[in-house]
Amino acid sequence: MKNLYTRKEIDKRIAELAAEISRDYAGKSILAIGLLKGCTIFMSHLLVQIEGDVEIDFMTVSSYKHGARSENFKFIQDLDTDVAGRDVLIIEDIIDTGKTLAFTQQHLKQQGARSVETVTFVNKTTRRTFDIDPPKYVGFQYDGDPFIVGFGFDYGGRYRNLPAVYQMEERDYAPEGAAVLA
Ligand code: 5GP
Repeated sequence: MKNLYTRKEIDKRIAELAAEISRDYAGKSILAIGLLKGCTIFMSHLLVQIEGDVEIDFMTVSSYKHGARSENFKFIQDLDTDVAGRDVLIIEDIIDTGKTLAFTQQHLKQQGARSVETVTFVNKTTRRTFDIDPPKYVGFQYDGDPFIVGFGFDYGGRYRNLPAVYQMEERDYAPEGAAVLA
């Protein structure tokens, strides 16, 4: 695996995002909604650096690989919190086609949120096919092809715990291959 973002770069960028969000929401209460499971590591590093009032909730959403229709999209676990009148901040790990975010934004707006903004750790624009409200806060812009893992990103459920972000290489897909970090 090839290192894409070092831990130092990640920490610096997350601190910058937290400062920006703290400034923008000064005097307001944020309802931070994480999209599981990818959001977990990024979300916790971000939120502990946000100054002000923050409430946390989570959603688990699932989409079939193909198809733009809403029947192909499911909310596996919805929120416990009433979003009506709230300033919602969606916390995403990565926006790829935009499908997950498009349906989530629509859902939260329908529930009467006062405002809906998005922060994504990584914004991958090369395969965007869904209309989304663009994320207001972006950690890293990624225009590469290789699949990324680490710092919350998984491959088949593994590697979320890696302390930085890596690009998968050919040899990492070999069934017997143990990942080599470089
Ligand atoms: P979208 O709905 O925007 O097409 O996809 C979002 C989801 O695809 C992300 O939450 C993530 O689970 C997955 N995804 C897309 N690209 C990558 C990638 O490079 N690495 C990993 N680990 N997941 C990805």
